[in-house]
Amino acid sequence: MRKIILDEPFRMRRVECEIPTPKKDEVRIAVKRLGICGSDPTIYRGLHPYVTFPVVLGHEISGVIDAVGEDVAKERIGQRVTVIPHIVCGKCEACKNKIYNFCEELRCTGAEADGAMCDYFCISSEMAVQIPDTMTLDDAALVEPACVAYHGAKRGCIRKGETVLIIGAGPIGVFCMQSCFALGAGKVYVADLDADRLALARRLGATDTVEVGKQSIKDIKDKIDVFYDCVGEKGQVLNNILDTAKRGSRIVVIGVLQKEYTIPKLPDFVQHELSLFGTTMYTPADYSDMLTLMGEKKIVTDGMISHRFGLEKVPEVLDMLVKKKEKTFKILIEVND
Ligand SMILES: [Zn+2]
Ligand SMILES: [Zn+2]
Repeated sequence: MRKIILDEPFRMRRVECEIPTPKKDEVRIAVKRLGICGSDPTIYRGLHPYVTFPVVLGHEISGVIDAVGEDVAKERIGQRVTVIPHIVCGKCEACKNKIYNFCEELRCTGAEADGAMCDYFCISSEMAVQIPDTMTLDDAALVEPACVAYHGAKRGCIRKGETVLIIGAGPIGVFCMQSCFALGAGKVYVADLDADRLALARRLGATDTVEVGKQSIKDIKDKIDVFYDCVGEKGQVLNNILDTAKRGSRIVVIGVLQKEYTIPKLPDFVQHELSLFGTTMYTPADYSDMLTLMGEKKIVTDGMISHRFGLEKVPEVLDMLVKKKEKTFKILIEVND
């Protein structure tokens, strides 16, 4: 089978290797679709703090189970699945409660363990989640990023009818916007620098959008109950939110912040009763909710897939992304059809 290995930063190659045999509690998945994540170019450039090389990328996965280990029900063969890309200890307190994102020994496939950029991929049967018959394999590959956004959206404790502002209209931002509506928000505004991304956010249901640099949030700023920072990085967005947030509002940072960060005007933060929430990944319960929400079309992906490539093109795709050669939204890799 084919496998794409990232030997070291910027050096990716395709190899031929044996099709893996599933261990006792594993299923083998014939991979069908892989989403390219915002974190993939970060790993490709060698900037991800937890990755050791060589590594196989690929954690937004859909496919069909084609073999099972001896402890797994044979009936699972043929099931269409999406994947929770987690390898967990199964013994810690978090694992006992199925809060796998808190597992002390958590490793994420496609970063700290090999991912699915290959024809066949084995993972614990529990992490291969059956998708509804009506769900496409395209959508199934996007369940993972949708769950990142949904888990983050829940952290904001939205109450019915509240007004939300999301900063960053990438895939996580637009999934977060739809998740906020699903959780009861009355109005969800989306802000970004990119007019095309904002147009997509409006098509997917945003109440209105703000083109940063051209429009100001002046008119809505006193109405916002919950802010979502879907950018992260050096904290410039979080800084602006802290400057803008009305008394009593909540702030969730979904985007990954780089290194250390200090909260400016901490006395104001305290006196204005602001709340700041962190979030990381998702739980199996989020997957289950998301399959329902996507099945009921409360969360949709229409217009999100901007590019499609075959598995062999992955090295070129990563090169294109780090050189920012082209505007992309969500890139899908088609592995086997
Ligand atoms: Zn991802
Ligand atoms: Zn654990």
